[in-house]
Amino acid sequence: MSEALPLEGRVAAITGASRGIGRATAELLAKRGADVVVGDLLVDEAKETAAEIAKESGRRLDGYLVDVADSESANKFIESAIEDFGKIDILINNAGITRDNLIMRISESDWDAVININLKGAFNCCKAIVRPMMKQRYGRIVNISSVVGLSGNAGQSNYSASKAGLIGLTKSLAQELGSRNITVNAVAPGYITTVLTDVLSEEIKEAAISATPLGRLGSPEDIARAIAFFVSEDAEFITGQVLSVDGGMVMM
Ligand code: NAP
Repeated sequence: MSEALPLEGRVAAITGASRGIGRATAELLAKRGADVVVGDLLVDEAKETAAEIAKESGRRLDGYLVDVADSESANKFIESAIEDFGKIDILINNAGITRDNLIMRISESDWDAVININLKGAFNCCKAIVRPMMKQRYGRIVNISSVVGLSGNAGQSNYSASKAGLIGLTKSLAQELGSRNITVNAVAPGYITTVLTDVLSEEIKEAAISATPLGRLGSPEDIARAIAFFVSEDAEFITGQVLSVDGGMVMM
């Protein structure tokens, strides 16, 4: 008889999971036995990603529409997923955007968009999931921050503020929810090769590589493995922590 996979019986919901880090995480958690709820702004892409990973892994996955910045949409996402899958054990707040500029050139709407998606989006999804997780006395929440949330970065004041805010949210929720066996942790990626960083010039990418002791940009799979650690049994006594996965770029 084959041994049970470590996440068998668990259901994970991941936001912004059609591509990039979210997709790599959905693939890895499914490979380790979890069923996965793939949330994204574009429902067709979410469903396509879910179907592809379901075929590869043999797990149950489905795609759902969610605009994390909108509390009604976040509530509906969580409610529908629980209705269809029976529960959610794991929430990965991964959806995020950048609108980079120097502060003099950041419009109010670009400030609001970044804060509303990256920070309020995580708040909306956490708020929607907390009651059911408390009831089931089990939950694993991982927020995807960034090394610039720890270090700051010129030209990214809106993004850095949203990612630093996520760290405050992570630590506060870890304190609020620990007694119900819900852990809340954050992963802080460095430069990872996804659509989000495709737009950066070769010069910026070269500068990032030379500022990285391990001498390369990260892959979505590098981040997925750290997320998978936080939701694994190995991390059951770890909460309120921020794990940088950045090849050593930022050392605090
Ligand atoms: P990505 O490839 O752009 O993926 C982000 C996903 O989030 C996209 O599928 C996007 O959908 C979705 N999304 C955007 N706004 C949303 C909303 N309001 N509601 C629901 N989904 C939404 O980015 P990534 O590089 O994988 O980044 C994933 C996370 O890691 C982000 O939080 C990012 O800030 C963080 N991060 C990335 C890096 C990096 O170097 N790549 C570094 C540090 C931190 P659409 O396609 O419809 O826009």
